[in-house]
Order: sequence, then structure tokens, then C-alpha cells
Amino acid sequence: MNLRIGVIGTGAIGKEHINRITNKLSGAEITAVTDVNQEAAKQTVQDFELNASVYPDDDSLLASENVDAVLVTSWGPAHESSVLKAIQHGKYVFCEKPLATTAEGCMRIVKEEMKTGKRLVQVGFMRRYDSGYIQLKEAIDNRAVGEPLMIHCAHRNPTVASNYSTDMAVVDTLVHEIDVLHWLVNDDYESVQVIYPKKSKNALPHLKDPQMVIIETKGGIVINAEIYVNCKYGYDIQCEIVGEDGVIKLPEPSSISLRKEGKLSTDILMDWQRRFAAAYDAEIQDFIESIRKKGEVSGPTAWDGYIAAVTTDACVKAQESGQKEPVALQEKPAFYQSFTTVSK
Ligand code: NAP
Repeated sequence: MNLRIGVIGTGAIGKEHINRITNKLSGAEITAVTDVNQEAAKQTVQDFELNASVYPDDDSLLASENVDAVLVTSWGPAHESSVLKAIQHGKYVFCEKPLATTAEGCMRIVKEEMKTGKRLVQVGFMRRYDSGYIQLKEAIDNRAVGEPLMIHCAHRNPTVASNYSTDMAVVDTLVHEIDVLHWLVNDDYESVQVIYPKKSKNALPHLKDPQMVIIETKGGIVINAEIYVNCKYGYDIQCEIVGEDGVIKLPEPSSISLRKEGKLSTDILMDWQRRFAAAYDAEIQDFIESIRKKGEVSGPTAWDGYIAAVTTDACVKAQESGQKEPVALQEKPAFYQSFTTVSK
């Protein structure tokens, strides 16, 4: 029998996940949807020709016997409440980032999940399912270039909406590096610092762009992460690990090379949806299969959501202070000790 999934929030990413579950992936079907905008929820059911009920809110959807698991794809401030309620109903929950908008909120979810004695919560950090990052992880774990010493990375977007603010560069954008980098090197963060280079002419007056974030890990690795969200030329994710004996680099997305009129060229992607499409498919398929086969989820944990919240809070503080700020994580509970990786 298919896993019966309810979707809380039928906005952009909610619809994308509905599409992949309905038209691309196997083992699940959408049986319920809700959104603060009820018309949008009804329209989604029509557009995707779903055999699904539209519920007035997350409470009624979560109480339905026709729902085994939910996707929380509403806007960030609504996530914590829906995830807590899902756990209390004993439903599996895939939550898009952020797990909660505060570290305290993430910790409430961690505690609620631990009470159940099994993993119900997966956070939508899809980069761990990207084949390039998986190759990087395997090379690091095998010490292909010895101990990792430094990481240089860049997160570049062609442009952002006019309501994009300086703090969103870390909270919404860098958060994906923040999650994937500690997973790659299996090392917790010690401190963060933010430096503002000369401002780009492409950035709106209210926005500091680009930004450079320096992250130090407890084990002494130094990471420099560039965020440049008005770079114009493309959506470009770079990551280079400098080890004791060599360098490992995230592969470029595959693309044909074109030889024409005296030039050799390849396309650069312009949007994150295409860059990580396969990773989104893989993370949701893993959510479905882990529940069906093991009765537990196995992707990024609520604890990973907590690490991201504490680290982005420290980054926002560092943006304001200009100082190095500590990343003060609580001790990792034994419950999460064995859930450190997702490598397929
Ligand atoms: P969006 O298009 O604005 O969709 C959010 C949807 O949730 C909207 O339909 C919104 O309704 C609805 N909503 C707001 N409050 C709600 C509530 N209390 N209960 C139920 N529904 C509610 O945003 P999005 O781009 O899909 O992003 C959704 C979440 O996914 C965000 O947290 C975002 O950070 C995350 N995200 C993650 C990735 C990734 O790479 N992993 C990519 C994109 C987005 P209204 O339109 O009426 O407000």
C-alpha cells in the first residue's frame, strides 16, 4: 500500500513536492492538503488531479486517519507548530527548512521527537542527496587527501527579490552550506565571523552583497563561504576541500560543451530548482522508502535543524557585531548519535 501523505502549505515548493510524489517517485500518494489560502489548496488538488481531501487547517489534516506522513511546506514561522503537532499525532514529518525559526523552537521539536523513542522528523536539507556532495563526502571519509584543513565555498544567485534582506543571506541562503559542511567533515562549528567586501553595484541599496562568512570548526578546519546573490551570470555552487595531501572539488553540473566560432563554452544553470532537482527527488524518495521499509525516517535530523538554527543565529549576530561569535551548541543527545550521515 502506498504511503499516504498530507501536505501543509501548497506554495511553490509544496507544489513541486506534490508533483514529484505524484508524477515521478514511487510508493506514495497525496491524500490530503491544506493551506491558509484554501482556494490555493483546492486549485492544487485540481491542477495535479489528486484524489485528495482539502482540510481547513493542519490540526484537522493531522487528525485524519487517511494520512500517514506529512510534508510541512508552509512559510517558516508556521513550521514549528505543525511539526510539533505532527509528532504528537504520531505522524512522520518532512519539514522544509527552517525546522523552526529559533534554536529554542528546534529544541522543543528535538525533545518531543525523543519522547516518542523513534525518528519521525526529516529536515529538507537536500544537498546531502546531491551526487556531487555524496562523492565529496566519500572522498573525505576515505581521507583521499588526508585530513581536511580548509574549505572554500561560494553560493551565488543571479538575482534576488527586492524584499531579500542582509540577514536572509545567512538564514535562507547560507543555511544550505551550514548544513552540508558539518556533515561533510563530521565536525561541529566553533565560531563564525562575517566580513563585507566592497558592495556590488548590482545590489539594491538596503542589501549588503556580497558577504564572506568565516566559520571555524571545533577540530580546527577553517571555512570561507562567499554569498553573492546578485552575481547576474548564474546559480553557481562551489565547494573545494583543501586537505593535507591535495584538493577535492565539488563536480560541476553536467552539461554539453559547445565548440563554435572560435569559442569552447558550457551552459551555467540559472536556478536552484534545476541545480538540485535530482537531490530533491532523492530526499523525498528516501523519506518514503525509509518509512515503508523501516518504520522510521533516516534523512537529516531534527538535531541537524537545531545546529542550523544555532549557527544562523550566530551568523546574524556576527553580521551585526563584526566580531567572531561563538556557535554555542548543547550536547548532542544519545538519541541522535547514530544519525550522522545520509550517503547512498
Ligand atoms: P511560498 O511559495 O510562499 O509557499 C508557502 C505556502 O504556505 C503559501 O501557500 C502560504 O500561503 C502557505 N502558508 C503560510 N502560512 C501558512 C500556515 N500557517 N499554514 C499553512 N500554510 C501556510 O514559499 P515556498 O518557496 O514554497 O517556501 C516554503 C518553505 O520551503 C519555506 O520555509 C522555504 O524556506 C522552504 N524552501 C526550501 C527550499 C530548499 O531548497 N530546501 C527551497 C524553497 C523553499 P500564502 O501564500 O497565502 O501566504
